[in-house]
Amino acid sequence: MLDALSERLQSTFRRLGTHGKITEADLDAALREVRVALLEADVNFRVVRDFIAAVRERALGQDVMQSITPAQQVIGVVHQQLIAILGGDQTPLQRASQGPTKIIVCGIKGSGKTTLVARLGLHLKSQGMRPMLVATDFDRVAATEQLQVLGEQIGVPVYSEVKEAPAAQVAKRALREAERQNCNAIIVDTRGTVSLDDEFADGLAALADEVDPTEVLIAVDSMTGQEAVNLAKEFDEAVEGTGIVVTKVDSDARGGAVLSVRSVTGLPVKFITTGERLEALEAFYPDRFASRVLGMGDVVTLVERAKQAIGERDAKEVARRMSRGEFDLQDFLTQMQQVKSMGSITGMLEMMPGMSGLKQQLGGANLDESYFKQSEAIIQSMTVAERRRPDILNGSRRRRIAAGSGTTPADVNRLMNQFTQAKKLMQMMTSNKSGAVGRGLRGLLGF
Ligand code: GDP
Ligand code: MG
Repeated sequence: MLDALSERLQSTFRRLGTHGKITEADLDAALREVRVALLEADVNFRVVRDFIAAVRERALGQDVMQSITPAQQVIGVVHQQLIAILGGDQTPLQRASQGPTKIIVCGIKGSGKTTLVARLGLHLKSQGMRPMLVATDFDRVAATEQLQVLGEQIGVPVYSEVKEAPAAQVAKRALREAERQNCNAIIVDTRGTVSLDDEFADGLAALADEVDPTEVLIAVDSMTGQEAVNLAKEFDEAVEGTGIVVTKVDSDARGGAVLSVRSVTGLPVKFITTGERLEALEAFYPDRFASRVLGMGDVVTLVERAKQAIGERDAKEVARRMSRGEFDLQDFLTQMQQVKSMGSITGMLEMMPGMSGLKQQLGGANLDESYFKQSEAIIQSMTVAERRRPDILNGSRRRRIAAGSGTTPADVNRLMNQFTQAKKLMQMMTSNKSGAVGRGLRGLLGF
């Protein structure tokens, strides 16, 4: 996610950090690099211009240059300003105070609308609501079937009609059906377009008039960059949006869409989606996202995801074992399998403080499959005693394990080093002395 931008910013600040005291010229040189990095990430040029001006002004105005750690202070200012352009505080999804919550999802073709409708359905369901998905896209072949399949997958009813009708009329009947089925939320999927002509805009406006929506979410494909951002603005003009969902943030997209869309449209980003799995929907927190961009990690989202994937009780138990140093290879294996169910490990590494560099070292995208398969094979070739007490793994045991798992002793050693590092890291993150991260983790896990 935003790899290139993140790396460039980090290397710029690393260089600045070697300066000791910073002069105004040093600051300007660093900001020139930040500017180029943002433009290359396809961030809207006006957003970049204002961003750089604001950072410069704040850095010069706050005695940053005179401080003992000027580089850190500059990063702090950049962090604050990133949060500002991302919208400041998190803007939650609204619920209707009376009657059903009604959400319309719109956007250009292929932006991820139908998938998003299902994701929101799952999200609301997990919060104890009873949503219904509504199909109104008659243009795309099999769009209705796509929604039905997704609805079935998440156990949420889908309202659809066989005969083509205007979206507003379908939605009107869907609302009645939702009431009959005792659903308290509807999420309406809409047809896509490539350009917003009058007919399309009118259809969407008529739908909104009929539904009186609680939320109108505009899906913005991060792979389409600035073009998607400009189209989001047109959608907002046609149908008065209430929020943006930036999709496919896991892709190689340079990041421009996420960083520009708030400033360009004035609408808050409410969610981002980060993968093909339906669970890959994240509430958007500007501060956490800014931390990730700057390589500071996002432990809070990491722990939230862990809780979701492995259940709150298990997460607590694992954390307790970790903090007591009882973490063994069996736990390591279990954890790896759980991590696999949480989505991509490279995505997870980004959220761990100081780990964004490790991702490069470990080989990026290839990491997931081959890393898991090999590590699983190695641990499974160990006896129970070896898994519980890794310190008994001497040379001859390691050779036997390598032969048994079709790997080499060097592979086994590598895994053992990773295990040792993971154990250390976890102890550090959960121990009493580890400051904010440890406190945050313990707070979240409640121990
Ligand atoms: P629609 O035409 O706007 O309804 O878009 P769809 O929901 O049908 O999605 C288009 C394609 O994008 C599908 O293949 C989805 O699986 C894929 N997609 C949607 N969201 C994401 C995402 O967050 N990450 C990735 N990698 N793919 C996504
Ligand atoms: Mg669709």
